[in-house]
Amino acid sequence: MKEVGRLHKVAEHVAAAHKNGDGVVVVVSAMGNTTNELIELARQVTETPKRRELDMLVSVGERISMSLLSMAIDALGVPAESFTGSQSGIITDESHTNAKIIEVRPARIERALAQGKVAIVAGFQGVSRDREVTTLGRGGSDTTAVAIAAALNADWCEIHSDVPGLFSADPRRVPNAIKLDNISLEEALMMSAGGARVLHEAALNYAIRHGIALVSSNADGSEVGTKVTPRISVTEPSGTVKAITEDSDLEVISLTDECSTPTETINSLMTALSKAKAPIKMANSSRVLVGLRDWLDRDAFELPNGTTSLGTTVRVSAVGMGIGNDSKLFCLALKALYDVEIRPTMWSVTSNSIGFEVSPHQSLKAQQALHARLIEAYT
Ligand code: ASP
Ligand code: MG
Repeated sequence: MKEVGRLHKVAEHVAAAHKNGDGVVVVVSAMGNTTNELIELARQVTETPKRRELDMLVSVGERISMSLLSMAIDALGVPAESFTGSQSGIITDESHTNAKIIEVRPARIERALAQGKVAIVAGFQGVSRDREVTTLGRGGSDTTAVAIAAALNADWCEIHSDVPGLFSADPRRVPNAIKLDNISLEEALMMSAGGARVLHEAALNYAIRHGIALVSSNADGSEVGTKVTPRISVTEPSGTVKAITEDSDLEVISLTDECSTPTETINSLMTALSKAKAPIKMANSSRVLVGLRDWLDRDAFELPNGTTSLGTTVRVSAVGMGIGNDSKLFCLALKALYDVEIRPTMWSVTSNSIGFEVSPHQSLKAQQALHARLIEAYT
């Protein structure tokens, strides 16, 4: 199995770090497509699984990884011990499937480290104060890793995934994308907010609040990744575009033409979306964009009266500190799109981002055009 091969590579990387004399804590996520498969399994049983039971189910993915990795490390002659989120002292609120960490009590991890063991922690999960298993939202094991690093006062936190770091665009979509050597946590957060999925938004927020330095690199750490640090030495002027991001599968929910009470209708829409734990990406007085990929309950969701779904859109953004303060950049970006015959349906500028909504089939072309004009042209 491909995944077991990878597991051995990760085990070797961890064992090498341990032999270096470093105390090592490894936070694991589920292997391959496990989490999706578990959710699909629940769907085959019922369309409306209780969130509590979903958490019981999906938290298993990380428990599989933690125990197997622990065995693999042990087999290399390095003592290791695995812990669930609950055993690791990850205390969360009660919000099943998107819980927030409120406290970390890493006593058992500290004990394992003191005994010279590698501690393996199941990411993505915690336990609420009334002892219920909770999960932290899709991609949440990054957050576990940052929270544990903060609780242990670790020097840094490495996040390994199937990409070797952060890039100036998704390298699978934009072949000319450049690997970023060093960026700030804030810039990484802008990228995640724009749809880049390398680092979890909540993890970056946590790292910013606790001043934790991150390194993002490939699965076995064989490549030099991207340093994502609280402070970076400023070598470039403010207003430099750092990356082009894509946020796809956004459902546009809007008011119907007949809607006579817009404020109340948007209000009831927002209330209903919040109850259904819909990931709201953008909202204004007439429409709301919701991220479909991470919305478990879309099928069971009923649109309130006065609202309608207009299908899906994609938001392609340029992000970078202060780029929105430069109107020339906006014009350049818009012209780059017009030059490849793309007319964005909507656009929005904040101080750190310039975003365009385009139809899904134009997204690839839009990302490449913006990358060429706003990034490649300056390197
Ligand atoms: N396994 C979980 C997910 O697929 C958490 C993670 O990967 O970070 O969302
Ligand atoms: Mg995962």
